[in-house]
Amino acid sequence: MSSIFTKIVEGEIPSYKIAEDERFYAFLDINPLAKGHTLVIPKQEVDYLFDLDDNLLADMSVFSKKVARAIEKVIPCSRIGVAVLGLEVPHAHIHLIPINSEADISFSRPKLKLSREEFMDIAARIRQELNQ
Ligand code: 5GP
Repeated sequence: MSSIFTKIVEGEIPSYKIAEDERFYAFLDINPLAKGHTLVIPKQEVDYLFDLDDNLLADMSVFSKKVARAIEKVIPCSRIGVAVLGLEVPHAHIHLIPINSEADISFSRPKLKLSREEFMDIAARIRQELNQ
């Protein structure tokens, strides 16, 4: 059975898309730690990030870098924090999270509740940065 993230890539489950190319897909995390919290995934369904082929893993970092640059233009923050957990969804992904302090990237914190309109607005603004 396909992972929930493969279903997102295939459009079976909706997502607030940020960016896509032949091999990678980026979309807003539905339970964000911060506005702009984004997940980057390979389209290939591999559970563990460090099982990815060397080239795919390297290129995923470069793809994530482009996305991170766009997020930080839209969401005021000190840095884009990067995290890999994979404890919930068995499809490799990198979390990109706008942060101002260490506490901002604590996954034990309560998640933000954003409206559909807020998600759509954030995603549209980040996409616009990417398209410039
Ligand atoms: P992890 O596997 O890294 O521990 O956590 C999975 C992450 O994926 C969580 O931050 C969770 O909010 C996010 N997530 C789980 N299911 C969905 C989904 O259906 N859509 C989106 N956009 N994010 C999801």
